[in-house]
Amino acid sequence: MTDAINETITTIEDAHTSGAYPKRPLALVRGLGSTVWDDAGNSYIDATSGQGVALLGHSHPAVAEAIAHQAQTLITCPEIFYNDRRSELYTLLSDLTPGDLNRFFLCNSGAEAIEGALKIASLLTNRSGIVATMRGFHGRTLGALALTWNPKYREPFQSWTMDTVKHVPFNDLTAAQAAISENTAAVVVEVVQGEGGVYPIDFEYLRGLRSLCDEHGALLVIDEIQTGLGRTGRWFAFQHADILPDTIALGKGLAGGLPMGAVCWRESLGTIPASSHGSTFGGNPLACAAAIASLSALRDENLPERAAEIGTWLVEELRALNHPQVREVRGLGLIVGLELRGRVTPALKRLQERGVLALPAGLNVLRLLPPLIITRDELRRVIDAVRDSLDE
Ligand SMILES: *Cc1c(COP(=O)(O)O)cnc(C)c1O
Repeated sequence: MTDAINETITTIEDAHTSGAYPKRPLALVRGLGSTVWDDAGNSYIDATSGQGVALLGHSHPAVAEAIAHQAQTLITCPEIFYNDRRSELYTLLSDLTPGDLNRFFLCNSGAEAIEGALKIASLLTNRSGIVATMRGFHGRTLGALALTWNPKYREPFQSWTMDTVKHVPFNDLTAAQAAISENTAAVVVEVVQGEGGVYPIDFEYLRGLRSLCDEHGALLVIDEIQTGLGRTGRWFAFQHADILPDTIALGKGLAGGLPMGAVCWRESLGTIPASSHGSTFGGNPLACAAAIASLSALRDENLPERAAEIGTWLVEELRALNHPQVREVRGLGLIVGLELRGRVTPALKRLQERGVLALPAGLNVLRLLPPLIITRDELRRVIDAVRDSLDE
């Protein structure tokens, strides 16, 4: 593998970047399917999907074509006007979401979807209490950050973040019962804690949360930003538990790589007052066109089903390695975590040297978040590279 990372790219980025990101010494310049290329022409299997975004892989022709076409038709159109692409996306989203999850607020990122979900919960319930979980991750803007557990992210801004958030241990129904009251506007959870270490929820616990919310008139808000749109083997991860939440937050892969987020809530809860929320770019036709193309491709190519099948196989194969460096393999569909006995950073570096890009989830969990279109052959190469880099 060629080592020559273009000096100019790194030098310029290092001179101007905020400093917010721990960087890997790798400049990616092209992607196709599950493969990405660096500036020296080396290829890598992208088991990060660009941080969970590229559900359809890179440069999916239908998405690229929809973006190009819409860019030449109408790029911008604020929600004070109606728009053909937006109405089409609403129809598609309401077909995909179960029950009466038919109201949407479109925005531009995952964190914005969580911010929206919080404001909407407050408007719909006239309450302010929020219950979130330990190890939960919901984004970095101040409202979303208040729900995010990791003290490293949250504590520097503690004085600015909402003091109405209570964090309870994940998968502990007794603790949730003690925290949820008549002041609770929303209970916010992930079905698989992604950034927190790839911890799947106990479905019995999720059903318990549903009952507690019903009992106290609180909204059950599911953060499906990482788990939604087929990643776990169902369109939405909460469907594994056979419940209907009041609100879901979407982001990441929603528009096939363009920035987009969405809050979806139950029609029976009503709408929010005019001017109580808004976004300049929210629901713009370019993102809507990309989302229509992405969701249609995910549906037409049966990718949620494929994620279930190939994800189960991946977990079985990783467990079968029986690797002494691996404490546990966890996952649901194509969100898979290997809890290592040591730190994950050196393992990620060795994987990269073997042509595989993966993510951390905390200090010692290696997270695989491949595109849903990844082939078994490609996953076999990932599995072999994982084995070899842990052997080293
Ligand atoms: C990525 C993520 C977010 C934040 O999304 P951004 O688009 O980075 O703001 C929130 N919740 C979960 C579960 C995520 O994985």
